Amino acid sequence: METSAQSTPAAARPASLSPSRASDFMQCPLLYRFRVIDKLPEKPSEAATRGTLVHAVLERLFDAPAGERTPPQAKSLIPGQWDRLRESRPELAELFADDVEGERMTRWLGEAERLVERWFTLEDPTRLEPADRELFVEAELASGLKLRGIIDRVDVAPTGEVRIVDYKTGKAPRPEYAEGALFQMKFYALVVWRLKGIVPRRLQLVYLGSGDVLTYDPVVADLERVEHKLHALWDAIQQATESGQWRPRPTKLCGWCDHQAVCPEFGGTPPPYPLQVGVPESERP
Ligand code: SF4
Repeated sequence: METSAQSTPAAARPASLSPSRASDFMQCPLLYRFRVIDKLPEKPSEAATRGTLVHAVLERLFDAPAGERTPPQAKSLIPGQWDRLRESRPELAELFADDVEGERMTRWLGEAERLVERWFTLEDPTRLEPADRELFVEAELASGLKLRGIIDRVDVAPTGEVRIVDYKTGKAPRPEYAEGALFQMKFYALVVWRLKGIVPRRLQLVYLGSGDVLTYDPVVADLERVEHKLHALWDAIQQATESGQWRPRPTKLCGWCDHQAVCPEFGGTPPPYPLQVGVPESERP
């Protein structure tokens, strides 16, 4: 069992839910604790960083006039965006610290180029004029639960219909896992619906790794179901926060987890729980 300790300024009770953190909790409650409450550092990964780089390139490409949104133009943005990313996140220097000849980074940048090129086989940016890119959204539900996230692209048709688009640099999931992939999109659709009173016409996932596009046209009942699910999830998160009981849930995804050394499933001990347990909200300092 995890131990309790006095609150530290760095630790904070969860205040809102994003699609990634909701997925973390569904995957493994202890992983959620490590990320949201303990804020344990994680090593940058090549795949995740490449995803961030490709997202930045696709976002910036729309700065150019429609006719100039070509594959060579997009690829020409990669070096500058990579420099910008390294400046804003100095910890990324460790990714290629041992790559003295620069071969691994060259291959990695080449893969980013291929992902960017593949996007042009799936969408035509000369015919798109996004209403928003990298849009931060936040909505508070009637229960007080705050939902937030960043939407890669929002397209609005002349008729007012809204399409939410998300880029994935990995491969499309097998059909039996599509529901999990759509959870994030329905989350965003719910936020937009609650913020603007508009149910997005279409949710679109663009998989650059495999060259697939997954779409879903939501209806109000879908969004109500997601809202219900998020409330249940938030209740479970709050219970765990108050009790300090965060169960590990081992799956094959543990292979990607940075926290095996402090996970009981791998013989580790979590750090002391940094929040007070069992203190009602009204009595907290
Ligand atoms: S190693 Fe697995 S069980 Fe342990 S915290 Fe990470 S995801 Fe959870």
